[in-house]
Amino acid sequence: MDSRTNLLNFDPEGLSEYIASLQEKPFRAKQLLRWIHQRGEADITQMSDLAKTFRATLLEKAEITALPIISDQHAADGTRKWLLDVGAGDAVEMVYIPEDDRGTLCISSQAGCAVNCRFCSTGKQGFSRNLSLGEIIGQLWMAEHTLRREPHAIRRIDSYDGTPIVEHEGRVISNVVLMGMGEPLLNYEPVVGAMRLMLDDHAYGLSRRRVTLSTSGVVPMMDRLANDLPVALAVSLHAPNDALRDELVPINKKYPLKELMAACMRYLPFAPRDFLTFEYCMLDGVNDTDQHAKELVELLKRIPCKLNLIPFNPFPESGLKRSSTARVQDFAKRLMDSGIITTVRKTRGDDIAAACGQLAGDVQDRTNVRERMQVVKFDRGVLDS
Ligand code: SAH
Ligand code: SF4
Repeated sequence: MDSRTNLLNFDPEGLSEYIASLQEKPFRAKQLLRWIHQRGEADITQMSDLAKTFRATLLEKAEITALPIISDQHAADGTRKWLLDVGAGDAVEMVYIPEDDRGTLCISSQAGCAVNCRFCSTGKQGFSRNLSLGEIIGQLWMAEHTLRREPHAIRRIDSYDGTPIVEHEGRVISNVVLMGMGEPLLNYEPVVGAMRLMLDDHAYGLSRRRVTLSTSGVVPMMDRLANDLPVALAVSLHAPNDALRDELVPINKKYPLKELMAACMRYLPFAPRDFLTFEYCMLDGVNDTDQHAKELVELLKRIPCKLNLIPFNPFPESGLKRSSTARVQDFAKRLMDSGIITTVRKTRGDDIAAACGQLAGDVQDRTNVRERMQVVKFDRGVLDS
């Protein structure tokens, strides 16, 4: 078995410690960070400004390896979805969503999820395991550097907020959201380590407002995050009262709405922008009535926030239906009229099942994955010809 150390598994501090353990000078850690994360170099022999002896040591002891790719699908709207092999018959997915002024990567933090929300296909498949720091940051590493090598992708992002990018010319991914598979706050240390790399100027140099962690509401960990690394926070609400939230988001039984809202208020002073985001999945006849809208206004009116309504993305056997477009619009209008800033999430990548809650719905069944790989190959064949 290969016992080499995967350098993707180190956050900036961890890498410095590793370098020190090899009796190398501290600045070598920064050099390495830049080679790995800024340049996407996986071949240690190519790291030309590292001393030959140091390269030889690294070659012997270390490697840079991301998760193997099972499939790579392209949607008609430019959305891209990768299915990654995490072993033992499990897979996770990540999704790249290009827009005019940004490129967003949605990454996973766990294989499966123990929270088991009623409307989520990841929850339905149960919990398999936590991803390591390297498996989490390896998603950004792989996506960023793969896309950079594709000239059409680079042209999408050449400025942030109208300011030309000088220091990160050619960067494709401007925003990262931890909204893929898993509950990031139940895999705290690896997630925070990976986010430290996202923010580090020698690695990805993203600002805290461009990294968003989405949580179902793990209250004690929200407080820890505020203290350790307060990135933008999205809270998955989905219900305006405890009775309904207990059913839809079972972690509510442990951390009910009163505690969750108090934790949100405590997070706010640390948040990179002066508001939090609440996500609300619109389920026909379940949480989308006028009465629910009224209760939601009461719940949110005293907290600076944006409400993001997500039309439910159905998956087999959920037993739930998406609210009609008219219902979503009316619900949004009621919230807006009461002073709550409300947006409706666009569904992207429908043709490759890349939307929220559909991620790796096919993971359990590897036959299905294999079939899909064949479909992907076929699609590529068509594209290539
Ligand atoms: N575990 C975290 C992050 C991953 S889920 C969390 O729950 O916040 C990311 C978002 O997708 C959450 O808001 C989640 O509620 C939403 N989601 C899950 N399944 C969905 C589905 N089938 N349709 C629409 N949104 C869904
Ligand atoms: Fe887990 Fe989030 Fe899905 Fe709930 S919505 S089961 S917390 S991934």
